[in-house]
Amino acid sequence: MCVVGLGGSGLACIDECLHAGASVVGLDAARVGGAAAGRNGGLLRAGSSLFHHEARARYGRERAARIYAATVSERERVMARLPAIARRCGYLRLAQDEAEARDCRAQLQALAGDGFEAGWYDGSLGVGLLVRGDAAIDPLARCRAEAAAVGAAGARLFEGSAVRRLEPGLVHTDDGTVRCRAIVVAVDGALARLLPELEDRVWPMRLQMLASGPHHRILPHAVGTRWGWDYAQQRDDGTIAFGGCRDVGGDAERTNDAEPTAPVQAALERRFEEVLGVRPSVTHRWAATVGYTADGLPVLEEVRPGIWAIGGYSGTGNLLGAVCGRAAARLALGVQRASPLE
Ligand SMILES: Cc1cc2nc3c(=O)[nH]c(=O)nc-3n(C[C@H](O)[C@H](O)[C@H](O)COP(=O)(O)OP(=O)(O)OC[C@H]3O[C@@H](n4cnc5c(N)ncnc54)[C@H](O)[C@@H]3O)c2cc1C
Repeated sequence: MCVVGLGGSGLACIDECLHAGASVVGLDAARVGGAAAGRNGGLLRAGSSLFHHEARARYGRERAARIYAATVSERERVMARLPAIARRCGYLRLAQDEAEARDCRAQLQALAGDGFEAGWYDGSLGVGLLVRGDAAIDPLARCRAEAAAVGAAGARLFEGSAVRRLEPGLVHTDDGTVRCRAIVVAVDGALARLLPELEDRVWPMRLQMLASGPHHRILPHAVGTRWGWDYAQQRDDGTIAFGGCRDVGGDAERTNDAEPTAPVQAALERRFEEVLGVRPSVTHRWAATVGYTADGLPVLEEVRPGIWAIGGYSGTGNLLGAVCGRAAARLALGVQRASPLE
């Protein structure tokens, strides 16, 4: 097997290939976790990019529940594998007004109706929906730990190896060609660059964050607010990672350029203060590119003979990306027939 892209999705794919007994080569144009998988908010939030009641309405109840359950399993796998860097802090969807509070209740009802854990929050931050089982992680430490584990288990990983061209059974880089039985392309926001046939289905989007701190304990939970536009986690050392405000950037955020911009960063500072009640003391600013799709569901399919594409998690890929990576491995190796997204 050859897996292109060494973010969380590609690394999970490699792990699954090894479990199935395959030999694996993994390639990355830059570094392990060098793109979004190592530079994100670190929220391990179960589900797809849509709130569960919306996912039920759009994908159907059984399908939405299957996707949610798959991400819960992946969350538990991460918690079990990486207890030193994952924190079971819960995920709070904080309502910013009455309308969002009503929507949180609808989400709670849908989750409970499908047997998933969730409760109502009424506390120092306001009101909203709390999923206590959800977690937060240092995303780069996660990628590095996963890469070390698959490397120790026999995967051959090559950083600094940009893939230029793909043919069935052949992966071309500047330094050589990998011959393999099947290929999984796990490059999320860069999918259409390698596989132009996906151009209309997965497009790049820049997401931005800042880090502040350390602060006194403000956030007992990882938080998403303003209908999911903004999100944050506070680490044990008191520092806070705060992201979002993509709506402020508008169409300019639909880009492969991963540089932070002044308007979005200024909006992040304002939102930080509104939500957390303190001014940020900014230590870092960053951005990365992810893949978006029209219906919010990722691509997981064989796009050319023996060439599988995964990506387009629409900004929520820490768990869903790994779910797709594992499924792509099993589908490509013929040990599974049905996609968990179907
Ligand atoms: C600021 C920000 C905050 C976010 N917050 C969260 C969050 O809190 N929770 C959550 O679930 N999701 C979050 N996300 C989304 C999440 O980061 C992504 O969905 C997920 O990391 C995608 O992982 P991946 O491995 O599929 O892709 P990536 O991390 O993009 O990895 C793809 C890899 O492919 C490599 N690559 C690209 N082109 C080539 C090529 N031609 N040849 C070889 N290699 C190539 C890249 O170098 C990269 O390392 C956030 C994203 C951002 C940017």
